[in-house]
Amino acid sequence: MLPPREEFCPAAAGQFMTAILTIANQKGGVGKTTTAINLAAAIAQRKKKTLLIDLDPQSNTSITFFDLADVQASMFDVLGDHRAEMAGVIKPTKDPFLFVAPARLALAKLEQQLSGQFDAPFKLKDALAPVLKDYDYIVIDTPPALGILTVNAMVASTHLLVPIQAAYFAIEGTDDLLETYERIRARPNPALKVLGVVITLYDKRTNISRDTHEQIRSVFGSVLFKTRIGKNVRLEESPAYKETIMTFAPKSPGAKDYGKLALEVIQRVEEDRIARHAEDAA
Ligand code: ADP
Ligand code: MG
Repeated sequence: MLPPREEFCPAAAGQFMTAILTIANQKGGVGKTTTAINLAAAIAQRKKKTLLIDLDPQSNTSITFFDLADVQASMFDVLGDHRAEMAGVIKPTKDPFLFVAPARLALAKLEQQLSGQFDAPFKLKDALAPVLKDYDYIVIDTPPALGILTVNAMVASTHLLVPIQAAYFAIEGTDDLLETYERIRARPNPALKVLGVVITLYDKRTNISRDTHEQIRSVFGSVLFKTRIGKNVRLEESPAYKETIMTFAPKSPGAKDYGKLALEVIQRVEEDRIARHAEDAA
């Protein structure tokens, strides 16, 4: 019998077994939740065992999969008062490769609850440790703020993925996000890397979309994913039917865009895995 994965291939400083992706942008309405849900679903479709974690008190991701009345234990119980273990809040979905750890509004109390605790930024990292071996990918949806929830996500992650809406002033505010990223890299999580920036809500008929695409490309260069997520009404509709775009409208442009993004994400993660191996071996 093979030893457990972590013994088989001991993780050096930069290496990782499970790719953990924080989806963050402190602006609201830029497509974080839509990207977290449908990127996770598209990765799961490629038979990668995927855990989607909802860290937004608004619980939009959770509502897409469950009735909140059926959610007994949530991320608040894990991070706030330790009434639940991570494994105890994870729920299966219709896709056998996709699992969801739901949020509840109570998460909004976390900031206050954790204030003054020296290990506040490490709560999620510690909680995830026992379940990491069970997943290939973990995707974390975050609230539109750079508070303790987003910091917990970034401290626990291997990669940061930033959705930017194709709209004027879209780049404003990303400075603050990147500053937080640099601070987290400096101390609690030097292994964190930016996986990429993805343009969302792109409408090829408008000058606004074309102009902002050019601007975002000039700022971010090759960090920008080739795939753009176009505006697609099916993406807006699917949560109301408690479906991801992959099951709700698999032939829609929205499903195709997230399918393409998932391929790019998997490719970048694999390339990074090889790069980190080489760095650690050198
Ligand atoms: P955030 O999580 O950043 O606040 P959401 O993912 O909730 O953003 O998106 C905000 C709104 O825009 C939601 O109503 C969502 O359904 C809609 N939306 C997001 N992406 C798209 C898209 N590509 N096409 C059409 N509507 C979208
Ligand atoms: Mg959201």
